Amino acid sequence: MIGSYRHILLAVDFSEHGNHVIRKARYLAETFQAKLSIIHVLDNIPMPDMAYGTIVPLEEYSAYELLEAEKKKLEQVADRLGVDVRQRWLVWGVPAQEIVRVAEQEQVDLIVVGSHGRHGLALLLGSTANSVLHHAKCDVIAIRLQDEVTSEESILEGSALGPLAS
Ligand code: AMP
Repeated sequence: MIGSYRHILLAVDFSEHGNHVIRKARYLAETFQAKLSIIHVLDNIPMPDMAYGTIVPLEEYSAYELLEAEKKKLEQVADRLGVDVRQRWLVWGVPAQEIVRVAEQEQVDLIVVGSHGRHGLALLLGSTANSVLHHAKCDVIAIRLQDEVTSEESILEGSALGPLAS
């Protein structure tokens, strides 16, 4: 039997199957009447050189465009979920490290990740999910993505949940 979660952090990578993870996070937040935060980590966009101030060199336009595109995607998902603007995190870095860091900083008690994402099905548990699971101090749920072939249930640390509605 588990207690109630008060603050859930949803990690989104905007991959093909991300919607399933998003729906499950919403279900969990509604079930526990928990605050929902959302994070996307920019791990493939070069950080703009702030030394240029407001003047952006031509070759960096693409980085800004990519950044804006990712920001827009995060806003769309967060709006759909009704996530408070103060609970939306778009950060640069290594995804697992930043997810764990923000979870600690914001006193999150449940992190929701997909069992895999952009890095595909090569691993049973995606590298980000695996790393978050091992480094987070709070519970972590890895949402089983639909095209996975194993029958393994969602992975939890420190507690057990029953089946989730789709
Ligand atoms: P992966 O390790 O890439 O297979 O991804 C597993 C899960 O980790 C995804 O379904 C997301 O929930 C989360 N994740 C992966 N990359 C990111 C990222 N850049 N930002 C936020 N969450 C991520």
